[in-house]
Amino acid sequence: MAETVIDAGLVVDGTDEEPIRDARIVIEDGRVADVGTQESVRVPDGADHRAYPEATVTPGLIDAHLHLSGARTMDPMDWAIESTELGAVRATADLRSLLSAGFTAVRDVGSGTGLALREAVADGDVPGPRVFTSGRAISQTGGHGDSHFLPYEWVDDGGISTLADGPADCRKTARKRIRDGVDLLKIMTTGGVLSEKDSPRQAQFTDEEIAAMVEEAHRVDVPVASHAQGAPGIKSALRNGVDTIEHGFHMDEEAVELFHRRDAVFVPTLSIMHKIVTEGDEHGVPEWGLKKSRAARETHFEAVERAHEAGVPIAVGTDFIGPELVPHGGNVLELELLVEECGLGPLEALRGATGVAARTLPENDVGTLEPGAHADLVVFDGDPTRDIEAVRAVEQVYKGGEAVSL
Ligand SMILES: [Zn+2]
Repeated sequence: MAETVIDAGLVVDGTDEEPIRDARIVIEDGRVADVGTQESVRVPDGADHRAYPEATVTPGLIDAHLHLSGARTMDPMDWAIESTELGAVRATADLRSLLSAGFTAVRDVGSGTGLALREAVADGDVPGPRVFTSGRAISQTGGHGDSHFLPYEWVDDGGISTLADGPADCRKTARKRIRDGVDLLKIMTTGGVLSEKDSPRQAQFTDEEIAAMVEEAHRVDVPVASHAQGAPGIKSALRNGVDTIEHGFHMDEEAVELFHRRDAVFVPTLSIMHKIVTEGDEHGVPEWGLKKSRAARETHFEAVERAHEAGVPIAVGTDFIGPELVPHGGNVLELELLVEECGLGPLEALRGATGVAARTLPENDVGTLEPGAHADLVVFDGDPTRDIEAVRAVEQVYKGGEAVSL
């Protein structure tokens, strides 16, 4: 197969290495074959040679926390009563928007659509980023994933969560997810903002329940992500072996210590919280959701800043779900918030959306430009390592070495 060569003014490779000026990337069979300076890397004979002298090239971006549920409103009642089929069809449009915005891989952490979408994208039936999915999340009864506003009898296995209670039931539900072929397990160890009758500070699931789900997942090398906002639920998740903490509003020193011990990754999802607090009232977010978001806002920023200073790896994840308030395609907001509100440098935010985000996934051939990785690239007009807003200026996207039509 003919090779493609891409020259760029600057290349960020997604690892801890410094960016390369006047760089060259050689692509063979959809994967990165070589990266270096234009002086050091030869252009193979007959290669398709493209040059972006003023641009910055990074690995394709990864949103490590979103939902491909195809939601179009912020009302949890709509999420509970709309069909999964309608959600899946709408989500194909969301996948296209994500790809155009430079996202070539996404981690769907709770949906009834993710498994089917993963297959449709992999088969080339619909354009989109590589999909890694947990399928439906697992919540306790009365937990964050339960639709509290409905009579219990009406809540079935629909929506974005399944309810499980007791170690045996949790174990069986985890095994069912693994049987479905999920890429990760998503559990919920605290209450949340968009769940009516619980609070972010309340811990959910017992140690025995968490340990049962983690044991099943790890036995087959499936990572486990936990929705965890209050410190007790963050710590019970980490103590019992969870690999990534989602949201993490209230972080204490002990939690930071557990992150290090577990080598866990933090996915703060500042974006959805920011959008709910600043514009949620105009977009139909229920009053109880607005209230809980406002209460968490400052501690959330502080928690991320403190975790970052303590060396906890921070991955980019938006928690976007599709409606106008939190639209797929607007996901680079997370990089801007990490830089503007939480003290990350622009290069650190870019790593958070590439190499670090890839650590939340079960396979490691995305997120960097190391030889052998998928040749998923974004060409930005400008230099986002200096001015993070340049992440909005996407000039070209490559997935598996092929230019994507934007
Ligand atoms: Zn989420």
